[in-house]
Amino acid sequence: MDQLEAYKQQIVTACRILVERGYLMATGGNVSLRVAERNGFAITPSNYDYSKMTSDDVCFLDLDLNPLVGQRTPSIESSLHATVYQTRPDVNAVVHTHQVYASALALIDAPIPALFDEQARFLGRAVEIIPYAPSGTGFLKKNIAKRIKNHHNAYILQNHGVLCFGPDMERAIHNVEILEKCSLAYLLALCTERKVTKIPLVVREIAFNKLRQDQKKVERGEEEDR
Ligand SMILES: [Zn+2]
Repeated sequence: MDQLEAYKQQIVTACRILVERGYLMATGGNVSLRVAERNGFAITPSNYDYSKMTSDDVCFLDLDLNPLVGQRTPSIESSLHATVYQTRPDVNAVVHTHQVYASALALIDAPIPALFDEQARFLGRAVEIIPYAPSGTGFLKKNIAKRIKNHHNAYILQNHGVLCFGPDMERAIHNVEILEKCSLAYLLALCTERKVTKIPLVVREIAFNKLRQDQKKVERGEEEDR
């Protein structure tokens, strides 16, 4: 199997898992992987049913969005993925979904504070909401580039969906799942109208510091500790 084929297979497998678990629906959302040796990334095609996708449908682009390989039109949200790879050297996989519970928090402008240890360890200090801009526009790209510099691994896009990152695809998918679990728990807690407790600040900072150490290893090209 050539190297590009391995990237394609990872994208197809990720889509299958995300569809099976209900995070990708119909043609909404998209998945990409950094291809460092080509200074670009592999991404799902535009407006294409994920359940029918094969490795031949995966597109390759450089970070300026010039097509490298692929017969299909790349996702219209490709510029959003390119922005992440340009801004965050620790990120090698990006998953963008329209998952329901996290999207609901975007509608009521409710960023998620540090509620669980695992959340702070893998997603960051909080899950912030990136202000609305239409898909595929420079405005959205600018909003994202500005917000993701804080090294969190999950963000909610106002009136749109979510963005989750990872040093590899497996972790990015895991982060999608942590985010959805936190979103549902937070929504349920908010419904009670009682005070929502957070983890202690010191615990949050220790967890986030571990995440940053992992990210710095990826930036230096070292293996992540698991
Ligand atoms: Zn979208």
